[in-house]
Amino acid sequence: VKFEVTILGSGSAAPTLGRNPSGHLVNIRERFILVDCGEGTQVQLRRYKIKFQRINHIMISHLHGDHFFGLVGLLSTFHLLGREMALNIYAPKALQDIIELQLKVSATRLRYPLNFIYLESKSSELIFEDNLIEVRTIPLDHRVYCNGFLIREKVGQRRINKELLAKYKIPLAIIPQLKDGKDWEKESGEVLKNEVLTLNPHRARAYAYCSDTRYNESILDHINDVDLLYCETTFLKAHLDRAKATFHCTAEQAATLAKKANVGRLLTGHYSGRYSNIADFEAEAKTVFDNVVLGSEGVKVEIKL
Ligand SMILES: [Zn+2]
Repeated sequence: VKFEVTILGSGSAAPTLGRNPSGHLVNIRERFILVDCGEGTQVQLRRYKIKFQRINHIMISHLHGDHFFGLVGLLSTFHLLGREMALNIYAPKALQDIIELQLKVSATRLRYPLNFIYLESKSSELIFEDNLIEVRTIPLDHRVYCNGFLIREKVGQRRINKELLAKYKIPLAIIPQLKDGKDWEKESGEVLKNEVLTLNPHRARAYAYCSDTRYNESILDHINDVDLLYCETTFLKAHLDRAKATFHCTAEQAATLAKKANVGRLLTGHYSGRYSNIADFEAEAKTVFDNVVLGSEGVKVEIKL
């Protein structure tokens, strides 16, 4: 029951030798979701040995180049590797026009279907769910239309208490109904209550990805109590004026959001290229909020049960 985030890129704007632009690979219970796809993301996927064919969902926060310029290259590589499985892309509608034009002029006919799911709402919406997980958008406050993503488990079924299974000789056939929360009525007519026979479900874990955005407390409603919050930290507070002008956050502001939302841990990233020592971001964030994970290429953050 893995839930893990791998940082593929922690820089903003142009790629450099040390930093790639945005990209997070989320493995939530063996569903692989790529969030943002800056230039060079496919090389990072190789570097960290992530199996390309397991990615079935790509979510793009907004159409600044450092968040999607790697996409057409990745789609082409999927094609060259023989992919046949459909790929779902969640993004502003204009991205479909961009990708289709790039494929058309390069005479590329993908051998797998691309499904575009348009993001255009200004309020949070459910964009994907299956039996185990769900993904909702988080409206952000940036220079262009931008969404974060709240990726969370669904509350699971009740868990069987194995000791009691033996003690009460519970037939295997009734386990599904116990997991659904129903009581067990024995043939004798005796009723054993569900809460006696089972344990509460595991807590549903959640990861919130918030990039890019300026400080805005309307985000708090969407990220309350998440286990892990990624909030962009493009600037240090010494450059608060730049953060305001470009609709980005400082490390201190990201930490303030983390604290007010009572999250488990804060993950930093999207650092401006002007800073050479990213440890300063961790230090600044920690003046406000203790549980800071300093994001950088190759860092894996596991959310434990
Ligand atoms: Zn941006």
